[in-house]
Amino acid sequence: MSVEYSSITCKTALSPCKLPGLRYSLNPYVGCEHGCKYCYSPSTLRDEWMGLNWGKFVRAKQNIAEVLAREVKRKPKGTVGVSTVCDPYQPLEAKLELTRKCIEMLSKHDFPVSIQTKSRLVLRDADLIDPEKFDVGVTITTMDRGMAGLLEPGAPPPNVRAQVLEEFSSRGVETWLFLGPIIPGLNDAEENLKQIIEVAARTKSKVIYDRLNLKQWVMGRLGSVLEQERPGLAERLPALVREGSEPWRQICSKVETICGELGVKCETAFPSWPSAQ
Ligand code: SF4
Repeated sequence: MSVEYSSITCKTALSPCKLPGLRYSLNPYVGCEHGCKYCYSPSTLRDEWMGLNWGKFVRAKQNIAEVLAREVKRKPKGTVGVSTVCDPYQPLEAKLELTRKCIEMLSKHDFPVSIQTKSRLVLRDADLIDPEKFDVGVTITTMDRGMAGLLEPGAPPPNVRAQVLEEFSSRGVETWLFLGPIIPGLNDAEENLKQIIEVAARTKSKVIYDRLNLKQWVMGRLGSVLEQERPGLAERLPALVREGSEPWRQICSKVETICGELGVKCETAFPSWPSAQ
């Protein structure tokens, strides 16, 4: 798939963030070449064209490091999520190094940083990732390479993401595994969940799990994968992932039981949502 690259300028680098544990988010790119079918970032950007073309464009915030240099001097310290609506280590980062420049500056000014990615390119910046100031998380939805290729067509395969956790964990960096989204009927089988949680156990990573979030434009991209893999599931999904639904409670229970058996700490991504406990 061809991706259209362009440059833009930004006015803000550190944006206020309501995600648990984060004070700010920092997104060096608008758009994400990983193009995950379930991604709901476009809905947070509230742009229909982006929603319909997610994965096909990337706009680099060419001046983000300069903007950040001013902000780190005047904004209160707080944990920065890198990133929340794009992957900070998507392919273009190899050339532009915007994320690298930003995390270097954040670290220098003592802002704690929480990195989330699906890419091994984060290992390039291992020299900057100080265990005292950083944690690193990767997202894994399935260990099945074929299924991952369907759901996350532009992202590195799951075993590569597991290696990222192994590497940082061995360097003493706090690591976590984002198990999500869990899509009932597609990747919620016990065997799949167990294979993922085993990665967390091996790397001493905490598991943070989440359900599919059916925000605007998600089904437009995910629908064709579901139709191919599980005909008829798309119509049932809204009820299966509804807040407080019995199927979701059962999935929570499954995840928490496996984590308990393997000695892995786990929590839901959004603690206000009901879990098995
Ligand atoms: S890597 Fe993250 S931000 Fe990028 S498309 Fe996938 S879910 Fe969305």
